[in-house]
Amino acid sequence: MKGVIVAIDGYSSTGKSTLAKRLAAALDYIYVDTGAMYRAVTYAAMKNDIITDGHIDRDALKSLLGSIKLSFELNKKTGNADIFLNGENVEVPVRTLEVSVHVSNIAAISAVRKKLVQQQQEMGENKGIVMDGRDIGTVVFPKAEVKFFLTASPEKRALRRYKELQDKGEKVSYDDVLKNVQNRDYIDSHREDSPLKKADTAVEIDNSDMGLDEQLERMLSYTKDIIEQITN
Ligand code: C5P
Repeated sequence: MKGVIVAIDGYSSTGKSTLAKRLAAALDYIYVDTGAMYRAVTYAAMKNDIITDGHIDRDALKSLLGSIKLSFELNKKTGNADIFLNGENVEVPVRTLEVSVHVSNIAAISAVRKKLVQQQQEMGENKGIVMDGRDIGTVVFPKAEVKFFLTASPEKRALRRYKELQDKGEKVSYDDVLKNVQNRDYIDSHREDSPLKKADTAVEIDNSDMGLDEQLERMLSYTKDIIEQITN
């Protein structure tokens, strides 16, 4: 048994990455954070002056895409897989609020999605993978054996993100973080190509008032049940 594909989708800052990472570790599966890939493309666009005053030069972005190579490498210090852009570790800069402000507009562009979705599908060819994002259970792996959809109130999510950024030393206001969370929700859910939505068979978890351990327990036990059903 090669293992299954676990697709985790949901709104920004619902703790998807943390849960996906822990679930993958518990199952001894590979974990892929697809948000980091969209963030890295956004960071590359910013570095190449393709975004000016919020306007994206789409032609320049399309030609830049051909020269973008993304990969993940294990960071021995943190135990996490860091995102690399053309051989450079960009794990830290892709997490800034500045990148968050532009990422959903970049992610709405079909040429960007086409390139990244193809790479994500290749990563899942051998199964035994937990992938989190916005379109994993609907577009990247519509046949994934296990699908979760995470939600929480915008205020709770913004508070979590605000604390995270503060811990990293970034000077941001709670209001700006809340605005960013709401703005990304809107763009991600309303874009034409692969909008964020719950897959029909996804298990929905509202974690506004639920701790990480409780969620992980539920997700792990559900996933193990599915694996057992498939194996027997
Ligand atoms: O998961 P994270 O919040 O880091 O993702 C950043 C952004 O990348 C999202 O707000 C969304 O616009 C985009 N994204 C996407 N599809 C994915 C993963 C992320 O459009 N599969």
